Amino acid sequence: TYIVTDNCIKCKYMDCVEVCPVDCFYEGENMLVIHPDECIDCGVCEPECPAEAIVPDTEPGLESWLEINTKFAEVW
Ligand code: SF4
Repeated sequence: TYIVTDNCIKCKYMDCVEVCPVDCFYEGENMLVIHPDECIDCGVCEPECPAEAIVPDTEPGLESWLEINTKFAEVW
């Protein structure tokens, strides 16, 4: 799955939302998040993000961001 990280805070560019084929972006408190179970790992959103806030969860040290993405995707 892909994860939205802190570069997204207060960005709200929304280019990523438009390209996602499965509409798995949700609104968090001050940033967007990706629902980790709905993301099909296509990677289309990553180059669309002007803030480079979207990263694959295979990168190290992302546990807390995965938690944030999961939390806000599910309360929506
Ligand atoms: Fe949507 Fe694909 Fe990005 Fe996952 S990787 S959030 S499915 S555009």
